[in-house]
Amino acid sequence: MSLPGASGGQPGSQRGADESSTHTEPARAYAELVAGNRRFVSGSPRHPNQDAGHRAAVADGQHPFAVIVGCSDSRLAAEIIFDRGLGDLFVVRTAGHTTGPEVLGSVEYAVTVLGTPLVVVLGHDSCGAVQAAREVTATGVAPAGHLGAVVDAVLPSLRRAAAEGVDDIDGIVDIHIAQTVETLLGQSSVLADEVARGRCAVVGVSYRLAAGVVRPVAAVPAGVATLDVPDGSAAAAA
Ligand SMILES: [Zn+2]
Repeated sequence: MSLPGASGGQPGSQRGADESSTHTEPARAYAELVAGNRRFVSGSPRHPNQDAGHRAAVADGQHPFAVIVGCSDSRLAAEIIFDRGLGDLFVVRTAGHTTGPEVLGSVEYAVTVLGTPLVVVLGHDSCGAVQAAREVTATGVAPAGHLGAVVDAVLPSLRRAAAEGVDDIDGIVDIHIAQTVETLLGQSSVLADEVARGRCAVVGVSYRLAAGVVRPVAAVPAGVATLDVPDGSAAAAA
């Protein structure tokens, strides 16, 4: 396969024909991630793009094929669970994948400057940030320090879950992931414009800690998040 980020030059300025056919399309990028997750789940990861040769190859420029906006949970290491390497993923992680100006700016940088065609919101079952927000809602006791900012960012998802009659923690997590997808698009006109132009997609996935598998819970546009990896695709051959 063509190696994402293997070409040098200025960020976003050079993209060979092979890379264009392999990684610039949101659905293909998503399939690439799913293929890596399948390798990880099956216990047969290939650890691509982690060798010294690739390290040198990407030193002069990066063309990551996906942005990961994930929870900071220590069990959610993006390059491990998607079986990728250097130059593949542009990763932004906060507790509960909460978003603020710096997160939005980082996403916009990857999408517009690096030309990354896919943004993935990565949440997971038993998320501590969601549990913390739930506890605050139940007790009315606000957390000390800056943890309050994390809780405040999760509260809209809790209110939405309550309105929809969802009260189990994993159901709330799914709603929070979908809410984060909507928040990214609602707060970043730059990202929304890239999606409207068909240059980018935003997919929310939920990761199960024990099984290691990701499952799509939201996608814009809706058709981009198929779990079917086309035969003979770069994903399958990676
Ligand atoms: Zn979490």
